[in-house]
Amino acid sequence: MNATTTTGQAAGDAERLIEIAGPMTVTELAGRLASTPQKVQGELMMFGVLANLNTPVSLEHAVKVAEKLGFLAVTPGPSARSSQSPTASSSAAPHGDATGPAPGRTAKRTRPAGPVTRPPVIVVMGHVDHGKTTLLDTIRRTNVAAGEFGGITQHIGAFQTAVETGDERDGRKVMKRLTFLDTPGHEAFTQMRARGSQIADIAVLVVAADDGVMPQTMEAIDHARAARLPMVIAVNKIDLEDSDPNRVLTELTQHNIIAEDFGGEVGAVQLSARDNFGVDDLLERLLLESEILELVADPNGPAEGVIIEARLDPAKGPVATVLVTSGTLVPGDSVVVNAIYGKVKAMTDDRGQKVKGAGPGTPVEILGLSGVPAAGDPLQSVDSDREARQLATERGAAAREERFGAHAGRLSLETLFQQIQRGDTKELRVILKADVQGSLEAVRESIEKLGNNEVRVQVLRAGVGNIGESDILLASASNAIVIGFNVKADPAARRTATDEGIDVRTFRIIYELIDAVAAAMAGLLTPITQEVKLGRAEVRQVFRLPSGVVAGCYVQEGLIRRGADLRVFRGRELIFEGEVSSLRHIKENVREMAAGFECGIMTDGFTDYKEGDIMECFETMQVARELTPA
Ligand code: GDP
Repeated sequence: MNATTTTGQAAGDAERLIEIAGPMTVTELAGRLASTPQKVQGELMMFGVLANLNTPVSLEHAVKVAEKLGFLAVTPGPSARSSQSPTASSSAAPHGDATGPAPGRTAKRTRPAGPVTRPPVIVVMGHVDHGKTTLLDTIRRTNVAAGEFGGITQHIGAFQTAVETGDERDGRKVMKRLTFLDTPGHEAFTQMRARGSQIADIAVLVVAADDGVMPQTMEAIDHARAARLPMVIAVNKIDLEDSDPNRVLTELTQHNIIAEDFGGEVGAVQLSARDNFGVDDLLERLLLESEILELVADPNGPAEGVIIEARLDPAKGPVATVLVTSGTLVPGDSVVVNAIYGKVKAMTDDRGQKVKGAGPGTPVEILGLSGVPAAGDPLQSVDSDREARQLATERGAAAREERFGAHAGRLSLETLFQQIQRGDTKELRVILKADVQGSLEAVRESIEKLGNNEVRVQVLRAGVGNIGESDILLASASNAIVIGFNVKADPAARRTATDEGIDVRTFRIIYELIDAVAAAMAGLLTPITQEVKLGRAEVRQVFRLPSGVVAGCYVQEGLIRRGADLRVFRGRELIFEGEVSSLRHIKENVREMAAGFECGIMTDGFTDYKEGDIMECFETMQVARELTPA
């Protein structure tokens, strides 16, 4: 999207005035313009844009179409728009492309305001041995801009390649960049999604032409779909004599992936990753997909990014690869990654070259963090070391709290109704496993029918066989629940489900299964309330102040949180039950205080503390009620 395109004459006939604040689908735009989607499609075609009903229309094109249809279109100013640029926690990623900053040249943050086009972030998935690693290696090696960049890339978890292509506006040759996640397979990608980071924009599904669609091909499809990623099919190994690309495409149609050659919309490219044949076509196709997505990000301002991978180097300390998603990261920046903080010391790109700045879409390796973060963790640059340290401490406490709270925010059958009512859930996502194909289809159909006008049931994966760890990971990444019919959960899956807080239900009788889902949707499954202990403190000294009586405490275990429930015990006797109404550390009001620290606690309605009293801090939460034993 061209960020600077505005047609800001806000004067004129108010009825013909339309504000276009961001990209919208063809159907939405038609609605706003009191026109038909077909008309909008026709207009878009005049600008060389082929769009289906759900294709997002860029701001630029939406404005043009609106004007063609006789409207005066106004767009928000650059600052309003830049706030819509993706962030680390959404579908964020990369950097200024042909129009944006080149890596290594973006040291200054004084760029013209507003978002620029960023390269797409691509994940390569598919069945084992179908050639994912070979494809990534070939792309890395054949980088046309390798000369410019200075050679071979290193493995840092992601790399960039540049492709020379004609500019659609004037036919000039321009370099466009693509960022590839360098971990083939869907596990790493899913784990990142499970941590709330969706950084990929496009999935390449590699299918070997001599082998066809295999189990992990199907898993990869599920993952790409769950992440709502557009897919490009790479039919690989067409150099082999027994390769049969048509068979691959036919098999894919059975999974509802209809290639363009078969009258569908999914791009499919035939190639040999080993012989570097057709790889250019794939890159071209990926550029085309990314143009449709109109990916933009703002290179101005503080950096946000996502950790791609991290390790502890014996000599250098924590080493992390960050994919910058917005802003520009520069050496010397104070950064925070959850409970980890640091000051970016050395920063190198995927070619091992020192860089002075990394804009959106650029993966860089950084040194200087206080610990080793996990893949998928969000990184943020802040104003000062102090702020970084403080944020990290707060987030550490929040993480502990989450562990205590045991995934309180997760979707389960019990919490479903409340989430529907709050408007948080519009879709009950289900991973369904059954013993045989016949029952799988029957269960699937029955539960899909349960949708009502408030929530629909979406089966993300329906498979035959026990519930495995990959089912749990998909559920975790997609906030789905797992339902088994006449199957069990593997031990590893059970462990992961507990760790990730995933609701796994197994049933032996089909109508019980359907009843349970239906009851959950109707809010008939009342959740049970359970106490979750937060921590314990001992009263060491009592202060009588004009403002009230303060119990000077030492936190012995867990944490004490302002606003949480509190019980005061003297010996074994419970002498008061209430709430932590004020919590202070030295003179500061604090939200919570962790074990090993002293704090002052006040509660409303109780002042009679004595040294040696024990305070127990807890919260009540609603937890899943077992329906049928798994
Ligand atoms: P991955 O498990 O999907 O990462 O697969 P690899 O990239 O490791 O490839 C598996 C095997 O297939 C290796 O022996 C590769 O050399 C081979 N391979 C990959 N691409 C091609 C290709 O285009 N043609 C042929 N003939 N073999 C290939």
